Amino acid sequence: MPTAYANPDDIGHFIGGQRVRGASGRQQAVYHPASGRVARQVALASTEEVAAAVAAARSAAPAWAEMAPIRRARILNAFLQLLNQHRDTLAAMITAEHGKVFTDAQGEVARGIDIVEFACGAPQLLKGDYTDQVSAGIDNWTLRQPLGVVAGITPFNFPCMVPMWMFPLALATGNTFVLKPSERDPSPSIFMAELLQQAGLPDGVFNVVQGDKVAVDALLEHPDVRALSFVGSTPIAQYIYETGARHGKRVQALGGAKNHMVVMPDADLDQAVDALIGSAYGSAGERCMAISVAVLVGDVADRIVPRLAERARALKITDPMDLAAEMGPIVTAQARDRIEGYIALGVEEGARLVVDGRGLKVPGLEGGFYTGGTLFDHVTPAMRIYREEIFGPVLACVRVPDFAQAVELVNAHEYGNGVACFTGDGGIAREFARRIQVGMVGINVPIPVPMAWHGFGGWKRSLFGDMHAYGEEGVRFYTRQKSVMQRWPQSIGKGAEFAFPVAR
Ligand code: NAD
Repeated sequence: MPTAYANPDDIGHFIGGQRVRGASGRQQAVYHPASGRVARQVALASTEEVAAAVAAARSAAPAWAEMAPIRRARILNAFLQLLNQHRDTLAAMITAEHGKVFTDAQGEVARGIDIVEFACGAPQLLKGDYTDQVSAGIDNWTLRQPLGVVAGITPFNFPCMVPMWMFPLALATGNTFVLKPSERDPSPSIFMAELLQQAGLPDGVFNVVQGDKVAVDALLEHPDVRALSFVGSTPIAQYIYETGARHGKRVQALGGAKNHMVVMPDADLDQAVDALIGSAYGSAGERCMAISVAVLVGDVADRIVPRLAERARALKITDPMDLAAEMGPIVTAQARDRIEGYIALGVEEGARLVVDGRGLKVPGLEGGFYTGGTLFDHVTPAMRIYREEIFGPVLACVRVPDFAQAVELVNAHEYGNGVACFTGDGGIAREFARRIQVGMVGINVPIPVPMAWHGFGGWKRSLFGDMHAYGEEGVRFYTRQKSVMQRWPQSIGKGAEFAFPVAR
């Protein structure tokens, strides 16, 4: 087994290049979900502590924005080397506080590293457009300039990767950053801050404040924070979007999900079973791209449900540091109880509970927050277990007669983060990709998380704002376009012009 992360130190903030102990007098327990023990405490910032972080970011902003983009990229390149050296340390830290299996945490770190690699190309991404001679003796060009201090508020389920959807590009494009990570798994944020410092990042360019709603509200209301990136649940995403906009900020707020996977009768069923099991139960379903609804078309249900049941019952659920583990615990006892409450609700609503994961105990880790893989059949769109995000290892099977009704079902759902279609027919695949009202589509790919240069974002109530995270959308989000029109005195004509300027 790889070495587990077991640091008993309490977690504070990282402000102006220094680790800072919390001074608000408020703190919260951070659990080791695999055993259920309290591992350490995390400080919860006051409004004044958030203001100190914003002030540090503000004073570092002018010099950082002035630095040549290629020099900023070199610092990120040094950070990239350090991340590669410490990737397993980060993965173990994620597993310790989140509970996802170590191999999955390694994947999370790798996908975060992809974004840092992309951000290292910022000098190319920041190149503007130039038009020679828009009118006699006049040239016009556009450039993109940083916003200033920007902030990121991130969820518990990707404590390393989701912050890396944000800060590498924000920094590469010349902004300074304040991160407010999830209070449930705060350690990776401080570790990343220290790696950035070791890489040569000037003090104050990247800051971390731990906290809860108090810290979030302080960022939302602070006049020096120019833009906010948020990833989390839909009600909070909407709150962040509306409150941030009211305070004059640019906001991108990515929300929750209920991702469907349509299985057509001509799909390769072996592949579809593997895909459903991995994407519904991987990371215990605590992924915004997890598949939580299987849409079984025609006669697929009778053929596939028994096979899914057999596999769900056989999931290897144990200590997440065990390299053979397929699923670990849920992040907190409260989250586990919420998930198990939804399972009881599904039974009340009349869905057929094929596999019941409730009450699972792992030998030797009896205090851990485990629940097993759960499978429902005959789920209908009217049920709350269909409509609401459960965010746990619960797969709901919905039976539909044909492709058209599968598309209609997906398009009618309030969420539109990810979706997949398993089929052997290229025409169906093409039609699906074009007609589906969802931001990220997989054809025979269950979790189509876009690569670093494509950008990530859902539709409908899975994203509030105009731009997706990372990729070129991320560059646009963290910069403002400026247009410069220039002519030199010797080319200036005589006399004021009162008519609107047109090309000559
Ligand atoms: P959450 O909404 O509870 O918390 C997200 C962040 O908001 C945390 O930093 C938290 O401290 C803060 N927060 C919580 N309550 C708040 C409040 N009342 N006011 C202000 N701030 C508050 O989400 P979570 O449980 O940490 O993460 C799981 C959720 O995130 C799921 O809904 C999942 O679908 C979603 N998610 C979405 C994406 C995506 O890309 N769309 C990615 C990952 C996770």
